[in-house]
Amino acid sequence: MSLTRKRENTINFSPGPAALPDEVVREARENVMNYKGLGLGVMELSHRSPEYTALNLQTQDLLRSLLHIPSNYQVLFQQGGGTAQFAAIPLNLTPSEDTTADYFITGMWSQKAAKEGEKFVKVNHVLSKADGGYMTIPEQSQWNLTPGAGFVYYCANETVHGVEFPEPPDVGSVPLVCDASSNFLTRPIDIAKHAVVYAGAQKNVGCAGVTVVIVREDLLGKCRPYTPVVLDYAVSYWHYVRGQFCR
Ligand code: PMP
Repeated sequence: MSLTRKRENTINFSPGPAALPDEVVREARENVMNYKGLGLGVMELSHRSPEYTALNLQTQDLLRSLLHIPSNYQVLFQQGGGTAQFAAIPLNLTPSEDTTADYFITGMWSQKAAKEGEKFVKVNHVLSKADGGYMTIPEQSQWNLTPGAGFVYYCANETVHGVEFPEPPDVGSVPLVCDASSNFLTRPIDIAKHAVVYAGAQKNVGCAGVTVVIVREDLLGKCRPYTPVVLDYAVSYWHYVRGQFCR
């Protein structure tokens, strides 16, 4: 028996990908067929066309205004989903495998990030599972932070285990990295407290595979020489922010 449910009769409780407002789906449908009266759909446009460039810049501007992103941060769109950032973060932010990076492990996704991170940095666990049991964030007095660490990583909202940071952890002057994949745009976030805030788009804002990376400008162009080009923040910056396409 084939299902033919009507959209208007469906109540979608899925937490992610979540239900989209009808008017958003309608607008997307129209633009997939014919974008701005060009006679072709948005997915059929060249990524070098002025229309695509305008769309990209507009998306960056919308994010800037929604999140009050300071002017010394850049908004990048990278490939590879949230998972690619598990490698991109250490490769872009630290010079070598001798660097220690601190990870708050509060659930499955920060655990996965730390496991991938082990390929590129010395991973220090700020908390052990026993401290919080993926149920809570222990008091600051129990945090095991490394002075001078390459960065401190946390997951703002653990999608599976449900632990959410009420605010960014205070880690002093060490660059702070936030995986905001599953609470991105659900509330304000103080970008200025971070070196990088990233979010895989498919939970809250867009298509699977696209990742929004908000990065402090002074961190661009410092990746390790063997960083794959698709993970290099500076390359994404030149492509999408400056419109200098080199591939
Ligand atoms: N971080 C969090 C918090 C997630 O929920 C997910 C995906 N469920 C990821 C990272 C991995 O993202 P992706 O599936 O885009 O690789």
